[in-house]
Amino acid sequence: MEEYKNQTDRFPSFPLAELHAHLGTSINPAIYWQIAHAQGFKLPKKEYREFMDYITLSPDKKATTYMKYLKDIYHPLLDKLSSGTYAVEKAVYEILSGAYRSNSITLLELRNNPMKHNHEGQEDLDHIIMAMLRGMERALLEFKNLSSGIIFCLAREFNYEKNEIIVEKAIKYRRRGIVGIDFAGPPDKSFHFKDYKKLAQKAKRSGLKITSHAGEVKDANDIWEAIEYVDSSRIGHGILAAYDKKLMKELVKKNIVLEVCPLSNISTSAVKNVEELKFILRTFVENKVKFTINSDWPETIQSGHLWEQFNFLRKNNILNEEELERCNKIAFQSSFIPGVGLNAYL
Ligand SMILES: [Zn+2]
Repeated sequence: MEEYKNQTDRFPSFPLAELHAHLGTSINPAIYWQIAHAQGFKLPKKEYREFMDYITLSPDKKATTYMKYLKDIYHPLLDKLSSGTYAVEKAVYEILSGAYRSNSITLLELRNNPMKHNHEGQEDLDHIIMAMLRGMERALLEFKNLSSGIIFCLAREFNYEKNEIIVEKAIKYRRRGIVGIDFAGPPDKSFHFKDYKKLAQKAKRSGLKITSHAGEVKDANDIWEAIEYVDSSRIGHGILAAYDKKLMKELVKKNIVLEVCPLSNISTSAVKNVEELKFILRTFVENKVKFTINSDWPETIQSGHLWEQFNFLRKNNILNEEELERCNKIAFQSSFIPGVGLNAYL
């Protein structure tokens, strides 16, 4: 990481909006270490730096595959450590306050699947959700100019009944700070967007917004489906749309915004290299597709904080300063959060 003398030397200097960050991968390794030790959890690495290295990816140290990282580290370790009322309250508070204090983030939408943070059903979901909201409220009380909200992720590998419960919980806590739902998880044969049409309509009628992880790996078909069946107003990743001209036209026509996560895509091998990333983002610029820059996994990708991703795109001549500012402006405009600070939910 390039050294910077003071805040004014740091690019970008403008306040940032983060629309796509997962709870489990937004927890700093030092916070994970504290959470684990406070509860006496057994860890796969006994030395802090080894642990940090074990859970962290980088463009140089890629996951062999995206699926392997999910299977070996993300779900068995990070989900477990970030489960329970103590962990989620502390995690949400630390993530939001850290983002504001150290990373110039003034708007942060944090997403998670509450059923992946309750030790596989051992804890009551309402307790878990209230703990998250307490963590968020504490951060919002401390930082008046911070805007924040939580998005609940449904899981493609869950059955409909389980996902329906998540939507019901999102609706129940909507006024307290749950701002939307997300269709998440890697492609799964049992999952079809068309099965969720009615449930998505219900969520929308209740005031929730909808985003969907789609077009990250495999192909762009799921983007078409996310638009057609669940009326997704934003798409998580969506990078494969760059290979589908008709789809790009549709995105522009419907004013759908992509949540692009550059270093995550490189680290998980969803894009081959910097050249492919450049091709994708330049194609979006040329075709006037609206997109935002996000971190996805800000603490488990080395140098993956949002401002570092902006810096990375500028240094590699992928986007210029003006284009990056525009991406950030689009992020503020397309946020699901209804207002600034605690007032958004009072
Ligand atoms: Zn994601």
